[in-house]
Amino acid sequence: MPKRDRLQPLQVYQLLPRTNCKQCGLMNCYAFAFALSTREKTVADCPPLLADEYAVAHQVLSAAFGSGEVQDTGLLIEREKCNGCGDCVAVCNRALSTLVNKGVVTRRDISDVPPPLDILSGVVEVTNWTSCKRTLDTPNMCRLCEEKCPFGALELVSVPGGEDADGSRD
Ligand code: SF4
Ligand code: SF4
Ligand code: SF4
Repeated sequence: MPKRDRLQPLQVYQLLPRTNCKQCGLMNCYAFAFALSTREKTVADCPPLLADEYAVAHQVLSAAFGSGEVQDTGLLIEREKCNGCGDCVAVCNRALSTLVNKGVVTRRDISDVPPPLDILSGVVEVTNWTSCKRTLDTPNMCRLCEEKCPFGALELVSVPGGEDADGSRD
């Protein structure tokens, strides 16, 4: 689903048992809601959700956060949602060209290296994350690829020491 339609932490919290039982290893359900949103925790980390009374919540949360794996780039790709349209690659390439035009990086900096994303075998893949604007010496918290994807196949989630899932450091 497009990012704007994704469950936000407060919505996640509303679906949780809200007993603050700590079985997930966190202090309370509110902390778990954020950890689930950033994929630091999974739905399975909350055992009480397996109770019949939370069956619907479990289903909704599993659909929202059940697939995909966060790469060490902080980018989560849900390949089954990607149709290989290439829109994310195109918007990324335009973003990098803008950096050249603004003189932030030189064309030489990026012309000899592959772009961050490419379509391989019909699915988007990270090909060279060192080209991503987020890896510049002064990181640019770009999320254009995520925002461009109409199917919610890409998500930039927080990494240890990184930004919040809602991009609050943007
Ligand atoms: S295990 Fe589930 S119910 Fe218990 S504190 Fe964590 S999120 Fe809340
Ligand atoms: S976040 Fe990185 S990969 Fe995504 S559009 Fe921006 S520069 Fe490209
Ligand atoms: S991640 Fe989204 S925008 Fe990128 S190729 Fe796949 S479907 Fe298209």
